[in-house]
Amino acid sequence: MWIDSHAHVDGPEFAADRAEVLARARAAGVSRMIVIGAVGPPDSAQRAVDLASVHDDIFATVGTHPHDVGQMTEDWWAIHERLAVHPRVVAIGETGLDYYYDHAPKAEQQTAFARFLELAHRVGKPVVCHIRDAHDDARRILVEGRAAELGVIIHCFTGTPQDAAAYAALGYYVSFSGIATYKNAEPIRQAVAQVPVNRILIETDCPYLAPVPKRGRRNEPAFLVHTAEVVAQAAGLSLPELSRHTMENTCAVFRLPPLAEASGSPQIGAGAA
Ligand SMILES: [Zn+2]
Ligand SMILES: [Zn+2]
Repeated sequence: MWIDSHAHVDGPEFAADRAEVLARARAAGVSRMIVIGAVGPPDSAQRAVDLASVHDDIFATVGTHPHDVGQMTEDWWAIHERLAVHPRVVAIGETGLDYYYDHAPKAEQQTAFARFLELAHRVGKPVVCHIRDAHDDARRILVEGRAAELGVIIHCFTGTPQDAAAYAALGYYVSFSGIATYKNAEPIRQAVAQVPVNRILIETDCPYLAPVPKRGRRNEPAFLVHTAEVVAQAAGLSLPELSRHTMENTCAVFRLPPLAEASGSPQIGAGAA
């Protein structure tokens, strides 16, 4: 059984066949998904909440990707404030810093990141962080924002092994995506080995970053197992061990209800089917 800690299945890429995508995920053993409502305007957050409201195995986050924070208005923030308290919302994010693409000015990214941490403190939920080529600034903002108290997920980790070790030392969780399967990603596989087994998560980040051997296609949660195979090997774990650790870690940091309860385990004598 697997849990996809970061999936954008709310997006338009899945509009035509979302039911089939979710069915394939469940058939592949992906028994839970965290749907990240944070791409573009807050419609994405609303769609993630809507999905989590009708599927027991889907949980939502609300935020705005660092690429898009330059467009944020106070009305936009107000939507996040309102959705953040929804009971199916388990985290704030993705938020963070992306200096690689630099779609929004760095100062605006930093201000929005800090403000999302404040929101996470107000609602008492962990924070999903997108950090690319900005690890020193990110650590500073996270430490200043007392983010360890919230629970921190560094998603789609792309830093050095030293960056991974530094995040783990702060008690943060580090999530690995399909990038770990790419031929030239040896530093990412080395980073896996730097993260204690009680801090490792895995994700698809679908529809982006499909793992080998699906690379180049639209990614989907059912492909998570390809990333799991590579991460398990890099971590020195068997596949069942990685499954157990990533399920426990993800449920712990997002404070998800116990699995049996959420999946509606059959009740003896509960009456007619
Ligand atoms: Zn991201
Ligand atoms: Zn993402």
